[in-house]
Amino acid sequence: MSYQHTMKNGEIVDLPVGKVVCVGRNYAEHAKELNNPVPTEPILFIKPASAVVDMRQPIVIPEDQGSCHIETEMALLIGKELRRDTGPQVLEAIIGVGLGFDLTLRDVQNRLKDKGHPWEKAKAFDGSCPLSPFVSPSGFRWDDVSIELRRNGAVQQQGNSGDMITAVAELLSHIAQHFALQPGDVVLTGTPAGVGPLSAGDELLAVLDDQLSVASEVVARCS
Ligand code: ZN
Repeated sequence: MSYQHTMKNGEIVDLPVGKVVCVGRNYAEHAKELNNPVPTEPILFIKPASAVVDMRQPIVIPEDQGSCHIETEMALLIGKELRRDTGPQVLEAIIGVGLGFDLTLRDVQNRLKDKGHPWEKAKAFDGSCPLSPFVSPSGFRWDDVSIELRRNGAVQQQGNSGDMITAVAELLSHIAQHFALQPGDVVLTGTPAGVGPLSAGDELLAVLDDQLSVASEVVARCS
């Protein structure tokens, strides 16, 4: 799999699917709904390339590992390496904007958290990162992007990037101090409130501003 991305000049570039760097609790309302403290610095974790699937395909959730929550997030496709870069120019590394689902095995995650263990078994499983196609970032104001998830016709999540605790430029700068972002990597910017468990047969519609809307359906599979 690769990302086919059309640049502003019309050129089509093929980017390898890299890692997905995610931020936990980047919206205060979401931290509260899970009874978590609001963090003082971004909580980062990574999903490997093997977690990435196409959001337009059926969303496959493991059937036998407890609840699988959906978190709907703005996704940023990186087109230029960021390594210890800081400042507003980090925004120039974003070549695409899309939607990502940060699928989370919540019961597994709670068990891991209780033991102080890493979250990967809950967050990085195969298929845990459905991504939409990416559109050009030129139409976006980073502090005013609306994110919505409808599940079976009802609004489940509704948020705006203006409510992010760590805003986009600051987030990319922070990530780049810890690990390099490379072309083909994706950053998930955190979920607004309204996360909840998925069930087989759910019909999902994720909407990013007036720029993108992606429908998918949920199927369950025994692992
Ligand atoms: Zn998330």
